[in-house]
Amino acid sequence: MNDYKLLTPGPLTTTRTVKEQMLFDHCTWDDDYKAITQRIRAELVELAHCDPSHYTAVLMQGSGTFGVESVITSVVGKDEKVLLCTNGAYGDRQVKICEHAGVRYVRYAEPYDCIPSAARVAELLDADPTITHVSMIHSETTSGLLNDIEDVARVAKSRARTVIVDAMSSFGGVDIPVEEWGIDFLVSSANKCIQGVPGFSFIIANRDALEASRGKARSLSLDLYDQWRGLEDGQGKWRYTSPTHVVLAFAKALDEMRAKGGLPARAARYALNNRLIIARMAKLGFSTYLMDHQGPIITTFLYPEGADFDFADMYAFIKERGYAIYPGKLTDEETFRLGNIGEIYVDDIERVTTLFAEYMDARGLLEAACGAADLAEALARMDAAGADIKAEAPDNVKLAA
Ligand SMILES: *Cc1c(COP(=O)(O)O)cnc(C)c1O
Repeated sequence: MNDYKLLTPGPLTTTRTVKEQMLFDHCTWDDDYKAITQRIRAELVELAHCDPSHYTAVLMQGSGTFGVESVITSVVGKDEKVLLCTNGAYGDRQVKICEHAGVRYVRYAEPYDCIPSAARVAELLDADPTITHVSMIHSETTSGLLNDIEDVARVAKSRARTVIVDAMSSFGGVDIPVEEWGIDFLVSSANKCIQGVPGFSFIIANRDALEASRGKARSLSLDLYDQWRGLEDGQGKWRYTSPTHVVLAFAKALDEMRAKGGLPARAARYALNNRLIIARMAKLGFSTYLMDHQGPIITTFLYPEGADFDFADMYAFIKERGYAIYPGKLTDEETFRLGNIGEIYVDDIERVTTLFAEYMDARGLLEAACGAADLAEALARMDAAGADIKAEAPDNVKLAA
């Protein structure tokens, strides 16, 4: 099988050096290992701009959904109720989590291309004093949209509600001042913007809110409070078997992130990748599904009108040449998605968009899709569209790996 890079929003392409960490079978109980876990926890709190005397980080085995499920089923008590603000599949998943665990909830649903409004959240909270928690998604990976968590959190905080944010696909790639914005529980996972491999999620948690959740958990293994106590009392000892290889890889990913300019540099690189991919794809006739609130992580594209695309055929063509793209997740429109996070640089964006042009040329779709007479013309238009964006790239962005 040919090697390829992932343009999926996690798992994503990681560095060789991160992967190499997994060649070592580390034991879980000694001080070396516990120190690694503790350092990861401290660094996550720092990345979230939180005062460690107010906030802590809890690592939880499993994929990102396990982290979200852990928070929702551990912190919303039996007599409490969570307002779920949804505008995509990951918001819908929180509804399912509540249904399964019997967590009381109210849903505030927006269409997938609109953001939940803070004013509406305020109205809902004022109308229903039994709502104790507000939950929402930051980067809705379904569409690529970036929600305004700052505004919603402010409204919820001013009404003394606990705030839960799924920042799975944004934390580490978009700056989030968690404490300043009044977020009590923020969930992300190892295999997204920190650029580790899959295997655990993590929760940045307000210590007071975490204390208040004691005894509320519905699940044993996903009990957030217990997991936290385990990590604290054992000074970095995981409650049950820890994903050692993944943890070592994650520690390395954090080191590499810091060495390459930290979060500002990473956010700038992702934002540049995103602008460039959108600008170049536009020249081939692909428009973005979102008119507003496009985030810098992943983009949903609509097919050009009047040209007949076959996703499976296009996927195979591009994958054979080194990149795995991502199907759409919208039920009502024909779309596909391109993620731009992970070890992906301007070089990759140019290469993969060139592959789209070559595919269209090979299938005779170019003219109908974008009016270019031939491949050379299409590529020239794309390069012209990207030139200014590249020229404006901040100094802390490397254009190639
Ligand atoms: C990736 C992701 C998740 C978690 O998905 P898993 O497949 O469980 O890792 C949750 N929410 C968002 C917004 C995501 O992008």
